[in-house]
Amino acid sequence: MQISEIHIYQKDLPLAGPPYTMARTSLAAMDSTIVKVVTGNGLAGWGESCPVGPVYQPHHAGGARAALVEMAPHLIGANALDIDLARMVMDDTLNGHNYAKAALDIALWDLQGKHYGQPVCRLLGGARSDRVPSYYATGIDTPGETAKLAIEKMRQGFSRLQIKAGGRDIETDIETIHKVWEAVGSKVRLKVDANRSWTARDALFISNGCRDIPIVLEQPCNSIEEVLAIRPRLRHPVYLDESILDISTLLRVIALGVCDGFGLKVTRLGGLSAMRTVRDICAARTLPHSMDDAFGGDIIAAACVHMGATVQPRLLEGVWIAAPYLEEHYDGENGINIEAGHILVPDGPGLGISPDEDRIGNLVGSFA
Ligand SMILES: [Mg+2]
Repeated sequence: MQISEIHIYQKDLPLAGPPYTMARTSLAAMDSTIVKVVTGNGLAGWGESCPVGPVYQPHHAGGARAALVEMAPHLIGANALDIDLARMVMDDTLNGHNYAKAALDIALWDLQGKHYGQPVCRLLGGARSDRVPSYYATGIDTPGETAKLAIEKMRQGFSRLQIKAGGRDIETDIETIHKVWEAVGSKVRLKVDANRSWTARDALFISNGCRDIPIVLEQPCNSIEEVLAIRPRLRHPVYLDESILDISTLLRVIALGVCDGFGLKVTRLGGLSAMRTVRDICAARTLPHSMDDAFGGDIIAAACVHMGATVQPRLLEGVWIAAPYLEEHYDGENGINIEAGHILVPDGPGLGISPDEDRIGNLVGSFA
């Protein structure tokens, strides 16, 4: 099943509500990149990569498209079913840029599923359930407003919430955590995500200031070394997110005992192929993790849900998708949504979605 065409699109994703605000960035719209990989027998597979702006991690939208333009010509003629071989072609063409390779990788898994008439989750080992738990990430806001939002999301059925923190005085972060805890208590599991923004000193003050509240601290400080230095003095479990750039780093932090779990991003790690390995490494060490991406529309959401469905339920800390923040779906009929805090696993072949070609943005490059 030879790859005959690769098309690259730029897609603006305006947000339906207020800007998405983290400690170091605030965005009113996202810039996504979509790829369509077509085979000689007329099948099409879809992939996507959507950094949350250029500051969240060392990825940016223009970089993703430039990298795809570099790699795409070398994949024409390759067999779409030999995903590992296609990955080798990408690595032989371009060093790094996992987040761009991820879009092609996801498209090839979609194609493989369509070829065999099976959902991607089955190709990845099999779904443990027909739906996965999700979680909601609050933006940075006042303690009172964040607590109000936490109650609203709990009532909508979310059993996990991520409270964004950082980028302001630590007293406000501490007050926010207390207010949310008073509002939702043990009915909801809470992560507090500083997105790399706390100093080691801030993280220690905050952990001490919330010592009786069962929270997980996600990516409190910028570097692995900073977290490692304070870990014995923290009173809470720590998950790493932005620091996990690749499988090698994952192995290093597990060996060093830096953290108790992970926030995982499918595109950052290089797509579903790499994430399958990461999932299995985490299972071998009984390390909980989420199955997310930084942002993106239905294509990314479907990829995260298929992979999340294959994770041992006791280790799955939820599948985050951007749907609650977005104005529209690529697939008007079978777009990926959250219902009562959960997401149904698509059961159609491949990713189980069919993007409407009117909704995938502007063509920026075609190769055949
Ligand atoms: Mg995070």
